[in-house]
Amino acid sequence: MVENRVLPRRIVMMGPPGSGKGTQSAILSEKLGLNTYSAGELLREAAASGTPEGNAIKEIIDKGNLVPAEYIVNRIEAKIIEPENHKGYIIDGFPRTLDQAKVFEEMQQKPFFQKNNLAVDLVLLLQVPDEYVIDRIIGRSQCAECGMLYHEKFKPTKVFGVCDNCGCKEFTRRADDTYETVVSRLRNYRRVTAPVIPYYEDKGLLVCVDGTGPIDVVSEKIRKIVGY
Ligand code: AMP
Repeated sequence: MVENRVLPRRIVMMGPPGSGKGTQSAILSEKLGLNTYSAGELLREAAASGTPEGNAIKEIIDKGNLVPAEYIVNRIEAKIIEPENHKGYIIDGFPRTLDQAKVFEEMQQKPFFQKNNLAVDLVLLLQVPDEYVIDRIIGRSQCAECGMLYHEKFKPTKVFGVCDNCGCKEFTRRADDTYETVVSRLRNYRRVTAPVIPYYEDKGLLVCVDGTGPIDVVSEKIRKIVGY
């Protein structure tokens, strides 16, 4: 056991679509007692609002493209500054471009962030090759009631068609989880998001995790890194 080690509690999850960011964030969130904010989830909520902004966001997400930074940066900031998140937070899927990373960096320099010690102290990169991603994304679903994530092959419900967590029998699938959209999201990841990796490497914040194994094997690797 490492003595006097400051354990990371302000964590960014990175990785290609289907790398398990959502699943691993949810596990980490429960173990550490921290809130997780998924950029994709925040945007899907906005998209469902039916406002002109929501409709614009929906159109972009459904094509598998990245939404403009102004739609996501403020939403993430609003979550981080909530008093309940001063003990730490997990962000899944943000920043996703070098520009977003730089805006996020500026945010962390704000006096409020500095005073409350809100700067990111760990970036976890889940590494998964493209051929895994398609398989993982096609087949995933979410409980319509509590949001628990499932996959028909890798994480099925214990009782067919019934959510393990809340017993709900209704499940939803993401509109952007189609083969064509996944290909576009992967292309975006390689082209636009991958440059964020060396940015955090240079800051000494990046730790890579092999995300190809079963869920519990990957979460055990993360447990060792995060030290809970
Ligand atoms: P995810 O749930 O992380 O797979 O994200 C779903 C979709 O939301 C992405 O394909 C993008 O269209 C959008 N999105 C999520 N995070 C961001 C972000 N940081 N910047 C821009 N678009 C995003």
